[in-house]
Amino acid sequence: MPKPLTDQEKRKQISVRGLAGVENVSDLKTNFNRHLHFTLVKDRNVATKRDYYFALANTVRDHLVGRWIRTQQHYYEKDPKRVYYLSLEFYMGRTLQNTMVNLALENACDEATYQLGLDMEELQDIEEDAGLGNGGSGQENPHLISPSPPPVLSACFLDSMASLGLAAYGYGIRYEFGIFNQKIVNGWQVEEADDWLRYGNPWEKARPEYMRPVHFYGRVEHTPDGVKWVDTQVVLALPYDTPVPGYRNNVVNTMRLWSAKAPCDFNLKDFNVGGYIQAVLDRNLAENISRVLYPNDNFFEGKELRLKQEYFVVAATLQDIVRRFKSSKFGSTEVVRVDLSTLPDKVSGHPAERHPPSPDMGEGTVLVPLLKQKCCTKNRSPLPLTISFYMHLCVLPLSQAWDIVTRTCAYTNHTVLPEALERWPIDLFQNLLPRHLEIIFEINRRHLERIANLYPGDHDRLRRMSLVEEGDQKKINMAHLCIVGSHAVNGVARIHSDIIKATLFKDFYEVDPHKFQNKTNGITPRRWLVMCNPGLAEVIAERIGEDYIRDLDQLKNLLEFVDDDSLIRDIAKVKQENKLKFSAYLEEHYKVKINPNSMFDVQVKRIHEYKRQLLNCLHIITLYNRIKKEPNKNWTPRTIMIGGKAAPGYHTAKLIIRLITAVGDIVNHDEVVGDRLKVIFLENYKVTLAEKIIPASDLSEQISTAGTEASGTGNMKFMLNGALTIGTMDGANVEMAEEAGEENLFIFGMRVDDVDAMDKSGYDAMEYYNRIPELKLAMDQIAGGYFSPDQHDLFKDIVNMLLHHDRFKVFADYEAYIKCQDKVSALYKNPKEWTKMVIHNIAGCGKFSSDRTISQYAREIWGMEPSLERIPAPDDPRQ
Ligand SMILES: *Cc1c(COP(=O)(O)O)cnc(C)c1O
Repeated sequence: MPKPLTDQEKRKQISVRGLAGVENVSDLKTNFNRHLHFTLVKDRNVATKRDYYFALANTVRDHLVGRWIRTQQHYYEKDPKRVYYLSLEFYMGRTLQNTMVNLALENACDEATYQLGLDMEELQDIEEDAGLGNGGSGQENPHLISPSPPPVLSACFLDSMASLGLAAYGYGIRYEFGIFNQKIVNGWQVEEADDWLRYGNPWEKARPEYMRPVHFYGRVEHTPDGVKWVDTQVVLALPYDTPVPGYRNNVVNTMRLWSAKAPCDFNLKDFNVGGYIQAVLDRNLAENISRVLYPNDNFFEGKELRLKQEYFVVAATLQDIVRRFKSSKFGSTEVVRVDLSTLPDKVSGHPAERHPPSPDMGEGTVLVPLLKQKCCTKNRSPLPLTISFYMHLCVLPLSQAWDIVTRTCAYTNHTVLPEALERWPIDLFQNLLPRHLEIIFEINRRHLERIANLYPGDHDRLRRMSLVEEGDQKKINMAHLCIVGSHAVNGVARIHSDIIKATLFKDFYEVDPHKFQNKTNGITPRRWLVMCNPGLAEVIAERIGEDYIRDLDQLKNLLEFVDDDSLIRDIAKVKQENKLKFSAYLEEHYKVKINPNSMFDVQVKRIHEYKRQLLNCLHIITLYNRIKKEPNKNWTPRTIMIGGKAAPGYHTAKLIIRLITAVGDIVNHDEVVGDRLKVIFLENYKVTLAEKIIPASDLSEQISTAGTEASGTGNMKFMLNGALTIGTMDGANVEMAEEAGEENLFIFGMRVDDVDAMDKSGYDAMEYYNRIPELKLAMDQIAGGYFSPDQHDLFKDIVNMLLHHDRFKVFADYEAYIKCQDKVSALYKNPKEWTKMVIHNIAGCGKFSSDRTISQYAREIWGMEPSLERIPAPDDPRQ
């Protein structure tokens, strides 16, 4: 077997990562040494690998600084409409390589580190992931707040907004602990704290001069002078800025994350010696707001701390938006004060305006409602909006304030799973944000008045559409609040947008059909191709040039070469190299040996019943039983890899991980099976691991129950990296099949209509179990302890669920899935046909660039025009 090129050798050959300007290399070396000396305060005798990483990161960061300042000056001078993207989650991954790629510095840095006797890849591996998110949504779709019409997105979106020259800001929370690190101990998931800031973060800059107060608790006083929110507790929001470079256009936008700080006088009211010590100790209580990311994916946990986090980011951000608006050429002076209502036209998401926040309200409170929309959008959790601020700050009548809110905000829905939708108990809300609750009640009153006028006598409709849900415990339905407070509402794939109109938000659609839109998600081709799969990026560039990196639709030009043997060979070769490299990585870091010539069959995503990792497990067990039965048949060897984190409180998801590891233990040690079937649980799936496994994958498992996965973005990453998809007609899979041709995907199973029909007729799992012998065998093995010899009933909860209360109908798709997998195995025996299908998929990927997604948000919701123009580079690129 030929030895694969190292990444270093590969980069020397390729152009997509920027040319190694010779003059650049010596400058880079000088600056690297300067940082080692002055910033790290080390010499090469005592410097550690981590010191070298920091020296390199600082060297690269220097190239951002001049562009960052210039971009912000440019925005000040041109005063374009701004987009504010608020999200509780930014799943950014690492920054060093992304910065080098977007600034075309990678080859030069590689050469410089090489000349210094260092291995750049090894240094890159020292960087911690910024894991400030749970999964796809935080990552690909941010929630945005946009200007007049604004909306939302996340890490891919930030990259695309900068690459498209939009004046965009990401706003979120600087969690001290991001998504937990997952360890597998005796087959079980164990969580460890993600102390990602321990060694410092070279990419952020604290801005204490822009600290803002955020108020909580207290009570409302209705006086002749107006309404006052008094006796509040104050927490300070301290911003940290991270640069977001566009792809080779000299644009550098800002992501601003807030950290909670207790005020100096926190709890110091009654000052005495004992009180003083305790008061200082108690500062932790206030600062807990930004301590840790809630690790739930598609699940709403109504904890007060979470509501505090949501309000914290919104209140701090709104104040910041108002401050910028007031100091902008447009917003300064009297204009704002007099006519706030121009905000939606000029400032996206900038609703704010006006003079100093009233101390009573806590600046920022107001716009919250607006923002919330945006926020809501993406994040699986809508923020609490509220309107109060507006009124207080702006001294506007509610109707005018609310009009600005709705013209400014847009709401993106990210899931239809009922358990994921935010519904805050009134009591909790009342205690934490009493004034905001009053305003929500008033908004609801006006909203219901309008509905009652439209549908006289239809009381059930009023109940269904209310922002306040009645019941044992009254709750605020945040999705309803978002719809009412937005001028645009969208889903994130065509099928999902259709479903919300037909089911979840049907009543709202009937009343305001013009609000509803679709914006199919996308991924950034910079991180998810150029960065993670340079070999493939280069093979493509050799055929069609490299403009496709900015304009992914050009991938369709590859179709010209679909029968070209040399392209087929090159694509297959890159895949094989990526597989070898990943095999070596697994062996080194996880001590497992796999067969790099087997099919890499991969399902990586959060562990959740709706994603149906259990269906994958049943296929594994079925394959195993078949191999055992006929060991001499010509089986297509597979290495099946499953990875993903379970929410720490989600018992079934944790048991699913245990089942996967248990099946792996039996299968992997069965000598009859040998290396024709291996089952690997990939520990601690995160962005950095995704960047390694996806380019090495042959088959991508996207097998959710039709109607449950809003879009998915993992599916798109695999498609762009030359894996074939086995999937249901769910989320963006539907559009992937449309773009690549349905014959080029392995589509199986129930469609949404079939699932709906089955919900009506009733789903009877036992019927499938009794009728399908291979299914029965697999279930009997799980239930009988075949995979858990030490504890026969270990999986009883899973067995019970699958047989008696499976909301996601795993058995109903079992037969179709197994048949479809048989087709996959057969095709894999024909590498040429397989690779041709891969080329059709890559060529059909254009639609799934987040550049396309963001352009549509910009034009159709935010009222902005994207642009591929560059802004001037700083004279000295290092300034
Ligand atoms: C892309 C991505 C996801 C989302 O995957 P889906 O298959 O769309 O659920 C989750 N986690 C990580 C680390 C990712 O990179």
